[in-house]
Amino acid sequence: MPSSKTIVLTYVDIKKFLLLVPRDKTSQECWLSADSPVGRGYSRLTLESGERALKHRVSYLVFKGPIPHGKDICHNCPDGDNPACWNPDHLWAGTPAENIKDCAAKGRTCRGERKSQIMKAVLARQSPRAKGLRYARIAVKVSGEKNAHAKLSKQDVYCIHRLRARGFSCISIASIYPVEPGIISKITKGLRWGHLEGEIQDESAVDRLAEAINSKRRRTTTIQFGVLHPLAKLDNEKVRAIRNARAAGSTCVVLGRQYHVSSAKISQICRGKSWAQVE
Ligand SMILES: [Zn+2]
Repeated sequence: MPSSKTIVLTYVDIKKFLLLVPRDKTSQECWLSADSPVGRGYSRLTLESGERALKHRVSYLVFKGPIPHGKDICHNCPDGDNPACWNPDHLWAGTPAENIKDCAAKGRTCRGERKSQIMKAVLARQSPRAKGLRYARIAVKVSGEKNAHAKLSKQDVYCIHRLRARGFSCISIASIYPVEPGIISKITKGLRWGHLEGEIQDESAVDRLAEAINSKRRRTTTIQFGVLHPLAKLDNEKVRAIRNARAAGSTCVVLGRQYHVSSAKISQICRGKSWAQVE
């Protein structure tokens, strides 16, 4: 069924393909190779180029001629469609719409029982392929805690809503969770984890988190001066020496070079605008 790109066959490919043609089958019978997938899979053929082509398309190409542009090669097997079959007498070219219509008419579309089997496998995070289910490229959106990649719990989401309601910014809330502020914003707007709204949970946890944010904020907004500053180039001794040297007539530029700081910094130190805590 899936339409693929143009198949280019070499002489070697055609020879290899023709050797596979069953000699003992009537035109009524389906052609299946030993490696043909059982059930709903298509047979494939490895070409000289290394590409894998759908065998029924190759068959159409070899026995019936070029595949009309934009057409799928569909099956019409006498005993019910067999996607793995590549008997040219069972193949016809149709538009994708005709193909889908034909599949639906023959009950070959994926729905009902089989679809629910696939969904169950996907939800149980098993590979549908491992369970022998094909055509299982169904993207299932698993939201919330059930998502294996979830970094937040229901409780976290509840607390995020409550913290935002108490006036904390998304940035400050993000400081205590392993997610970006943008995600916090989406959660508070109900764009993420929207399915949780209205759940009442423990308010005391929110109090504790609010306290955690506040203490974090205090810690990060306290500017550290002088020698406590992790990148301090000077210490109390040096500052005193700078002031003395400046009083004795050294210029800010010379002192700046000597202590590896800017001349403006020397000026600030000498005017008591910087390192004011040093007597
Ligand atoms: Zn057939």
